[in-house]
Amino acid sequence: MAILEQDLATQLKGHLQLLRRPIELVASLDEAHPKSADMAQLLQEIAALSDQITLRQDGTNPRRPSFGVAEVGQAPRIHFAGLPLGHEFTSLVLALLHTGGHPPKISDAQAEQIKAISGTHALETFVSLSCHNCPDVVQALNIMAALNPQISHTMIDGALFQDEVEQRQIMAVPMVFQTEQLMGQGRMTLDELIGKLDAEKATREAAALGEKEPFDVLVVGGGPAGANAAIYTARKGIRTGLVAQRFGGQVLDTVAIENFLSIQETTGARLASDMEGHVRFYGVDLINGQSAKALKSGEDGMIQLELDSGATLAAKSVVLATGARWRKLNVPGEEEYTGRGVAYCPHCDGPLFKGKKVAVMGGGNSGVEAAIDLAGIAEHVTLFEYADQLRADAVLQDKLHSLPNTTVITSVQTEAIEGDGSKVTGLVYQDRTSGSQHQLALDGVFVQIGLLPNTEWLKDSLTLNPRGEIKIDERCATSMVGVFAAGDATEVPYKQISIASGEGAKAALSAFDHLIRT
Ligand code: FAD
Repeated sequence: MAILEQDLATQLKGHLQLLRRPIELVASLDEAHPKSADMAQLLQEIAALSDQITLRQDGTNPRRPSFGVAEVGQAPRIHFAGLPLGHEFTSLVLALLHTGGHPPKISDAQAEQIKAISGTHALETFVSLSCHNCPDVVQALNIMAALNPQISHTMIDGALFQDEVEQRQIMAVPMVFQTEQLMGQGRMTLDELIGKLDAEKATREAAALGEKEPFDVLVVGGGPAGANAAIYTARKGIRTGLVAQRFGGQVLDTVAIENFLSIQETTGARLASDMEGHVRFYGVDLINGQSAKALKSGEDGMIQLELDSGATLAAKSVVLATGARWRKLNVPGEEEYTGRGVAYCPHCDGPLFKGKKVAVMGGGNSGVEAAIDLAGIAEHVTLFEYADQLRADAVLQDKLHSLPNTTVITSVQTEAIEGDGSKVTGLVYQDRTSGSQHQLALDGVFVQIGLLPNTEWLKDSLTLNPRGEIKIDERCATSMVGVFAAGDATEVPYKQISIASGEGAKAALSAFDHLIRT
């Protein structure tokens, strides 16, 4: 039976027409390994789809089974240890095309930065084939390896190389190593990854940002609220800038979105990419990968935004849309074991806990959904809730209670996450009703207890509510003249994409109104 289904093979054959030069697949196989035959067959099927591809089976990569993709006559710089199927199939297709001379879809500036990276960099990314965040990281690093001969990159399927997963204590993917040293974990953009290898990038960028003319409106945050605010003001024809740590915001962490008007179903990655296209279409000056650290009202009437990189931007008006992030338990062990058993994304990291015992902290919709999801993978899931009953929708609770490998424990005060120095081994909690203390042996803890507004850096400039959310009026005006706010960072109830983007539009119109009156 073919590894590539007929539809996939037909699509791939079409893509391979874009190859501009011949490439080689260099396999390093191990007949004793159960996946070796599958890999050999996959590579034969791919090679049969294009005259530009040849297959060699004399690879010397110690990780077996694996294969490299190379220009003919060169050593491979892109390697796949494991079968890049599932979410990684696109990574394989792009690796073939980029090695074969088809240009990657990145800006000229990014391509130049990659080519200018000096030194030799051997990068490795551990993934699971069901991880939604992994392909972005794998594809970005593969692009870097395709463009810069000093960079090599290997995607490693953690499920196939369990010994290495155990040895490096990997419990969350994607996890990127440079010459066996941890370089980063979780979703990372191409710009972030370039920044990690190019030490002078931040200084160069700060100098360039400092040269920018003042903006009419400067938006801080690139989630739905910030993106929509920028589109609204740019369409008014006024000079708009958008600064974001990570354009896309929480949308990037979302798998499926089914409640955005007129789009029955989309993925977070697709919506974020569409948002970026929309923002760029209107000529917004998009400054991505930069963090704001202070907001000040200048004597000249301008508002100053200081960035972590050292640059300061000026604007006549500002829209704050810095959103929110996962709330932490704040118990001993949580920080220490994050990525080593403590996880926040069940969709990404669930598969690493196959056959293991995990806990989900939080009995709201996201906690109960996570527990249902994990029950299909883990040996057992224990759901903990602080209150005396779950807060999730009844339909979700019914589903959870119907599963044989789940336990629900309510009225719980979590006291500590325990570990053996390298990974999680259990949880200590108190029964709030009896006061008795308990210990549960666990391999993983998924924290699902809500979101915290990204507003700490604003506490000396603006009025925040006790939850740290920015206080706004019905026009999204904050306590600082000329500064407006929108989305999850504000006290507006119901943190949703539609609501954040609507609020972004409102804040933008208020900023415009402020400009024409002043
Ligand atoms: P965010 O999306 O949080 O964006 C904040 C932006 O600000 C980011 O670009 C961030 O990098 C940037 N930022 C933060 N601090 C700084 C700083 N100091 N300097 C510069 N930039 C900064 N909603 C739905 O409607 N439907 C769903 O299906 C759905 N599913 C979800 C699933 C998950 C896993 C999560 C986490 C959320 C989900 N939501 C969903 C909620 C929805 O994603 C949020 O309500 C929405 O993204 C909020 O938009 P925002 O623009 O206010 O903030």
